[in-house]
Amino acid sequence: MAETIFSRILRGELPCHKVYEDDKVLAFLDIMPLSRGHLLVIPKEPAETVDQLSDESAAAIGRVLPRLARAVMKVSGATAYNILQNNGAPAHQAVFHVHFHIIPKLGADGLGIGWKSGRLDGADGAALAGEMAAAL
Ligand code: AMP
Repeated sequence: MAETIFSRILRGELPCHKVYEDDKVLAFLDIMPLSRGHLLVIPKEPAETVDQLSDESAAAIGRVLPRLARAVMKVSGATAYNILQNNGAPAHQAVFHVHFHIIPKLGADGLGIGWKSGRLDGADGAALAGEMAAAL
């Protein structure tokens, strides 16, 4: 995996506003927040995208996400928030080290989402679900 700004933060070469750390996970404030309290949660394991992450690192993040979300809500005053996780440049990933955003929704501040939803065709849904289950 290529060197990223987050590897440098993990090594202590760049500063961050640290909120949480354990042996597998680091959480710190986003430097360009979408709203006050915007938090980033990253694995210490070097992985570009979630599909490359080990079960252990994924579990460590999953274990701490609810607690971090509660802290973000408590301190920001938000009662709503988004957890955003981008994988790949076309999907708006800018830093190629896995990270989860916890973004409080505070009035107009926070994540703006434009859904362009389609409609799942029954036959295609059955085929897709079967193929994905077989790919696991
Ligand atoms: P993404 O588009 O999902 O890859 O988001 C990358 C995020 O990393 C952006 O929200 C940036 O503001 C944030 N970011 C980049 N550099 C730093 C940094 N040095 N400290 C904290 N957050 C950062």
